[in-house]
This record gives sequence, C-alpha cells and structure tokens, in this order.
Amino acid sequence: EQYDSEYSFRYQDLTTKLADPTQLRTKPEVSELKFGQIFTDHMLKVFYHKQLGGWQKPVIIPFENISLHPAAKVLHYAVELFEGLKSYRGVDGKVRIFRPDLNMQRMNLSAQRAGLPTFDGVEMIKCINRLIQVDQEWVPHSEGSSLYIRPTLIGIDGTLGVAQSESALLFTILCPVGNYFASGSDSVSLLADPSYTRAWPGGCGDRKMGSNYGPTIRVQTTASSKGRQQVLWLYGPDHQVTEVGTMNIFVFYIDENGDKVLATPPLNGLILPGVTRNSILQMTTEWKEFRIEERMFTMADIIKLLRTERLLEMFGSGTACIVSPISSIEYLGDLLHIPTIEHTNPLYKRIRDELFAIQYGHIEHPWAQVI
Ligand code: PMP
Repeated sequence: EQYDSEYSFRYQDLTTKLADPTQLRTKPEVSELKFGQIFTDHMLKVFYHKQLGGWQKPVIIPFENISLHPAAKVLHYAVELFEGLKSYRGVDGKVRIFRPDLNMQRMNLSAQRAGLPTFDGVEMIKCINRLIQVDQEWVPHSEGSSLYIRPTLIGIDGTLGVAQSESALLFTILCPVGNYFASGSDSVSLLADPSYTRAWPGGCGDRKMGSNYGPTIRVQTTASSKGRQQVLWLYGPDHQVTEVGTMNIFVFYIDENGDKVLATPPLNGLILPGVTRNSILQMTTEWKEFRIEERMFTMADIIKLLRTERLLEMFGSGTACIVSPISSIEYLGDLLHIPTIEHTNPLYKRIRDELFAIQYGHIEHPWAQVI
C-alpha cells in the first residue's frame, strides 16, 4: 500500500502547534543577516520508529532544541544527511520554492546510502510548504534575499553498535538569508591543493551527508589564511577538477576548432548532483548557442586553455549564490589568473540573471513553484 507508514508519512496527518505570540522572535534587518545564524519561529519534525510501524505523524511545532540519547548514532557515526534549498518572495509578493522535487530525490538517495528510511518527496514538500506558510513573514521582502530551507535526517538509536538505526528524526529548520550580491564584486579566489581529497570512487561524495563536510572545514580554514575564499577540490594523480567549496564547477572555453564549449565534470560518483548544476545544463542546452559537455577535465587542461588564451570563464554553481565567478586559482605555488569577470556580457552573469528572474517571479517558470 502506497501510504504504508514503512513507506512514508503523509501531509494529511500533519498537525501544527503554533508558537505563543510571546515566543515569537523579532525579525532581523535583512542587511545584517549572516548565513545560518537566525532561525524562524517554527520547525517541522517527523519521527521514524521501526518498532512502531515506521514513520509517525509529521508535526509543526515552535522551534526548539532536540533531546538525544548520548549514544545516538548521529553523534558517534555521523548517521546524518541534509538538504539545502530556498524559497523566494517574488516581485508579485508570492513566495516561490525552487525545484524542491530534485532536493527530495537527492535526499532519498542520501538516506539510502546512510541506511536511513526514505519517504515520499511529494508529501515532504507539502509539509515544508506548510512550514514556510506558517513562518511566511520570515521570507525576506527584499529582492536578492531568501529563506533557506534545511531538511535534515538523523539516526537516533541510542545504541553504540555500528549498525542500521531503527529510529530516525527528520526535521526541517528555516533561516532568512541576506542578499549575496549586495557587496559589489563577488569573484572568488581558490586554493587547489592536491594533497586533500573530498570524495573518492565508492565513497559518498555524491550524497549530501554531513560526514562529507566536517573534514573540509580545516582545509577551508587553510585556504582562508592564504587569502583564498574557497577550496578547489582535486582528485587523483592527474589532478582532476571536481567541485569548488560547496559548489559544482563550470568552465567556458573555446575548443581547438574555435567553437565555444561549456563543460562541467560528470556525475561519476565524486560530484554532488547539484540542483543549480542541473538547471544550468538544462537552460543552456535549450539556448542552443554553444556545445555543452559533462566531462572530466584536469588542472593541466585548465593551464593549457589559459596558455592558448582559450579559457573564457570559470564559475561555481550552487543554491547559496546561484553562480560565483572565479578570478584566480592558487595551484602548486602559482597563482593562475582566470579572466571570468573581464568580459562584456559574461556567460556567468547571463545565467545568474536568468535563474534570478525565475526565482523572483519576473518570469513564470515551472521550476519556481508558488507555495
Ligand atoms: N557541491 C557540494 C559539495 C555542495 O554541498 C553543494 C550544495 N548543495 C553543491 C555542490 C551545489 O548543489 P545545489 O546546486 O543543489 O545547491
């Protein structure tokens, strides 16, 4: 049966307990918002208990701390995965959510890899949309700002065995985020150090598990101390380019025949299947203006393109900033200069503007769903 609680919880069973008006927090000025520091008044919670038949009824409750058994698997073996997506207040005042179906697909793939229970993504989106409606005044009113949505799934069995968790907690919290583009030039300088590896074949770099992110923090700190904003993650003895920080990476160049190509690494297990990546590939394919390639490329390929003056642009893509132009890469003691932001009408900007227009309702598009 489709709605067997082993299979999924249902939106129909969702109950909402609103915060007492005295509990409501003052909303911050959007301009002072740093990412992920301020949360809204409510949260969504769904428990899974195998012994009770599986998924329990979803609830929206006032934002609160979570109480866990000290042996909870999430605390010892990082049995955890999450998602990151956004909702936007459009020019018409309506709140839209961007391609949540893809995030739910990815979340279920992560859950499978973590040995945690999966669920019906459509039911989860309805629950999330309801949570956003409850906290809708938290969706910032200024264009460029948004409400970040963090669905999370953790294994909570209070037993130390390295074994599948028979109980889990799925929750979602929300935070308003300010305008990423407010502060002028936003091009980034990268540190590419081949002594660090983010993901490897047979690992889980293509799943959004917390255990992929903890070990990157130290490397990011090293990059920052060298004046680089992000880490360019390389893989293998040939220094394949994989991802940048928590973004996918694109390179726009001219091939040996003089044709323009937009390339991004393939989904070969080392790459998180980004929703923005997918959207950029689909959008630019429809333009039919240049060749699109999902293929592996190495630092040597990048250096060759630079030497022959055929490298046009490099940029990262992700929910946080849509696209982030790259201006330089520190690699084996050299600082490679990438001319991304030096063109008139650069591709990265056109892509950003188009996705921005969809997200803020300047263009009606099925990717941005009114909630
Ligand atoms: N790569 C990594 C490692 C990430 O954490 C993210 C952010 N989820 C991305 C790429 C970009 O994915 P998306 O476009 O879905 O935000």
